Amino acid sequence: MQVYKHYINGQYCDPVEGQWFDSENPYTGTVWAQVARGSKADVDAAVKAAKAAFDGEWGQTGPTARGKLLVRLAEIIEREAERLAEIEVCDNGKLIAEMGAQTKYLAEWYRYFGGLADKVEGAVIPSDKPGIFNFTRHEPLGVIGMITAWNSPLLLLAWKLAPALAAGNTAVIKPSEYTSASTLEFMALIEEAGFPAGVVNSVAGFGMEVGAPLVDHPLVDKIAFTGSDVSGQKIYESAAKKIMPVTLELGGKSPNIVFEDADFEAAVMGAISGIFAATGQTCIAGSRLLVQRSIHDKFVKRLVEVAGAAKIGDPMSTDTHVGPVTTPPQYQKILDYIDIAKAEGAKCVLGGGAYSGAGATGSQFVQPTIFTGVNNKMRIAQEEVFGPVLSIIPFDTEDDAIAIGNDIVYGLAAGVWTSDIGRALRMSERLKAGTVWVNTYRAVSFTSPFGGYKRSGQGRESGKEAIMEFLQVKSVWIAQQTTVANPFIIR
Ligand code: NAD
Repeated sequence: MQVYKHYINGQYCDPVEGQWFDSENPYTGTVWAQVARGSKADVDAAVKAAKAAFDGEWGQTGPTARGKLLVRLAEIIEREAERLAEIEVCDNGKLIAEMGAQTKYLAEWYRYFGGLADKVEGAVIPSDKPGIFNFTRHEPLGVIGMITAWNSPLLLLAWKLAPALAAGNTAVIKPSEYTSASTLEFMALIEEAGFPAGVVNSVAGFGMEVGAPLVDHPLVDKIAFTGSDVSGQKIYESAAKKIMPVTLELGGKSPNIVFEDADFEAAVMGAISGIFAATGQTCIAGSRLLVQRSIHDKFVKRLVEVAGAAKIGDPMSTDTHVGPVTTPPQYQKILDYIDIAKAEGAKCVLGGGAYSGAGATGSQFVQPTIFTGVNNKMRIAQEEVFGPVLSIIPFDTEDDAIAIGNDIVYGLAAGVWTSDIGRALRMSERLKAGTVWVNTYRAVSFTSPFGGYKRSGQGRESGKEAIMEFLQVKSVWIAQQTTVANPFIIR
């Protein structure tokens, strides 16, 4: 049995209230780790440590030195990638093939933002005030509270931690109660890289017991959050009381749109990857598949053929395609949505329930499920399922596809499959989403900004934009010679 403690001020430590909780392996259904159950007192200790580091040694550490530490961390991550991936699979049940690639790629965020740390420049403003010199400085915000979801714990963390540290902030991290192990394990890598004590801290536990006190803590200067829109809204409301900035990476119900002129087989695979990869547990899932009516039946037939052949089973096996659902409530939620879709009159053409066949251990497996005959007003088309459930909606024209695609409260991502470059450009301009993929799906990179339109979020992660989320701009005015000005008139 593994034991995972909080990491505060450079030390692994027991929870103040002496409480622990179990972490279950979603594939085997067995408890594999005991995790410290944090409380307000642990949050307070971690935030105070982060504040002291910000006001102390870290505040005096220049951007080039910060960048070097991040690059060193990237090298350590590469060395440890395989081990980290195995921990993630134990906790979230995602495929080792996916998590292995993800933990290796993780290093790139730390390397990129390490490189960017000393390239954020202020400006000398051409002043209209004679004799006054005006320039800008970009300054860190202070202590950043980072709260993450269970589907890709270390990747979601990298999107926040790498730019925040590059910008000179300190951090208190609360990982999901379902997947705390990898983040707490990661703290040892931070230490090995040489970050001073208190710069990065992590308190494990539940949303209301650790997350909420972290958001409310008076010494926390910003929250960077990934999770559901429901929790995001609560956090936004709490942050408003402090007039505190937030970055919110929330859910989605992304349209994946296939035109009749698309490369047929590539579009089929794109649709599969959009919804059945990671057992559909990705914020960017292309869970609404819009197919042009002229190819609809042929497309559905092929999709059912390919998805129906997906191998379900052990996530540690490299030939598995679909693994278990990560959490018991999520498993129940997916099954409930399948029932809702059936009750709404959608036609189930593949799957449609729990899976207990070969390769399943009996718990938390859902069959890849496809519904046709969906209209965009149905709950199955409007609400995020976060599982391997695809809703297929036919459309006729480009205008139709835009109207259906944008008729949703979310705006995280969209896919377009076409061989017409003009159409690709028109669609990418008209779709209301933070990311649009054309003839590909699920591409993300440290180089490219990622985030939501509408109810999918606030702010951007990755790319050059991300570092600005963790900086504030100061305008400095210096008179070149002192003059006695009329004090009652604005200068
Ligand atoms: P969740 O909102 O239930 O929990 C996310 C985190 O917030 C957890 O650590 C949880 O403990 C914490 N939390 C919950 N309530 C809180 C509160 N009131 N105050 C502070 N913290 C609180 O989400 P989840 O089920 O873990 O994750 C799935 C959701 O995350 C989906 O909606 C998915 O789309 C979204 N997601 C978004 C992105 C993105 O980048 N946009 C990426 C991954 C997942």
